[in-house]
Amino acid sequence: MKILVSGAGAAGLCAGIDLARAGHAVEIVERANHLRVNGAPIDVRGEALETARSMGILDALEEHRITMTEETTFVDRSGATVARLAMREINDSPDDIELPREDLMTILRQALPEQVDLRFEESVATMVDDGDRVAVTFASGRESAYDIVVGADGVHSAVRRLVFGPEHEFTEPLGVYVALADAPGHATPGDSRVTEILNLPGLLAGVARYRDKALGIFEFRSDPIDYDYHDPEAQKRILTEAFAGIEDWKVPELIETAQRDPELYFDAISLIHVPTWHRGRVVLIGDAAHCATPMAGRGTSLALLGAWTLAEELTRHGEDLEAAFGAYEQRQRPHATAAQEFGRGGADLIVPATWEDIEARNTRLRAAQPR
Ligand SMILES: Cc1cc2nc3c(=O)[nH]c(=O)nc-3n(C[C@H](O)[C@H](O)[C@H](O)COP(=O)(O)OP(=O)(O)OC[C@H]3O[C@@H](n4cnc5c(N)ncnc54)[C@H](O)[C@@H]3O)c2cc1C
Repeated sequence: MKILVSGAGAAGLCAGIDLARAGHAVEIVERANHLRVNGAPIDVRGEALETARSMGILDALEEHRITMTEETTFVDRSGATVARLAMREINDSPDDIELPREDLMTILRQALPEQVDLRFEESVATMVDDGDRVAVTFASGRESAYDIVVGADGVHSAVRRLVFGPEHEFTEPLGVYVALADAPGHATPGDSRVTEILNLPGLLAGVARYRDKALGIFEFRSDPIDYDYHDPEAQKRILTEAFAGIEDWKVPELIETAQRDPELYFDAISLIHVPTWHRGRVVLIGDAAHCATPMAGRGTSLALLGAWTLAEELTRHGEDLEAAFGAYEQRQRPHATAAQEFGRGGADLIVPATWEDIEARNTRLRAAQPR
């Protein structure tokens, strides 16, 4: 079949690899002009490890494994440690592989079969599914028709908006915004394993270090903000306003560093719930279907697993798309639901809303700390 994949994130690249290897003719379109590889290190966990083995990339993932941090250190306004969270309490098992997001994306890009047509600065503008084919017009003006369209274009999926409905119908905002920025001035050479976090009521600023890199992490509680999420200047302005007037610890330098990062990652943290992930010849995978938020630490694993399951069910059911998509959804949904439950609880742990909540969290962590 001729298949269009919208989005070249982890889900889109995996779909490209799995569907092309199953014998389909795959085209991937990515809105950005390059692979978006930045972000915090991610985890490949649970069933996704077996998927990675089946895809033939497990050894490469192992080679790029990092131990980012043994624990997260919570500091007070002067930088003194007030509590610790051991990572073993978050990981599913010691087999989980944590690796830089850029390494994962490079591994997937290299595993993409040559015949996959990957096009940058391209996105779907209109789609008409007449039952036999999906006719697509692209933003560039190009037109083409496909047997299947796979929406792998993330939380703000265009495929979902065009075929399933407006974004707000599927979004459950958790009331927290996140930003991640390269913070080169905060790196410590060597295998540094320290993640430090300062919480103020409804705010988090931190530094995560891995290899010789450092990443500024920011989260803040807020009602929904109306802005153009494609506009980096608007993102930087909102971030600066959220931390305005805070002179504690390393916050001013970290915010300044975020202003200079051309690849700043900024978004609202939202769960995505779509009642069914397929309609006609169109199917959703990854965050477009079931974002569990970065708080869950399972988005990439779900992306690998979902793309693999979709390809397997298409092979099993041939051109009976209804059966293939239904079986994919039945297998994938329990994983997505479990991850979303995990994600929903994250905000209270990571960004407590009040001084009392911060102190209660820290007291709980200190009590859990082995003596
Ligand atoms: C830059 C970036 C940094 C991230 N950092 C982290 C992190 O630090 N921690 C974490 O837990 N999660 C992070 N995520 C989310 C994480 O990558 C996903 O949860 C997970 O990998 C599932 O991936 P996905 O492919 O479904 O979605 P995404 O990773 O969001 O990928 C979607 C892709 O589709 C592209 N796209 C969007 N709209 C269109 C369109 N209309 N047409 C074509 N292409 C489009 C995007 O540019 C992107 O490349 C990040 C995502 C991005 C894009």
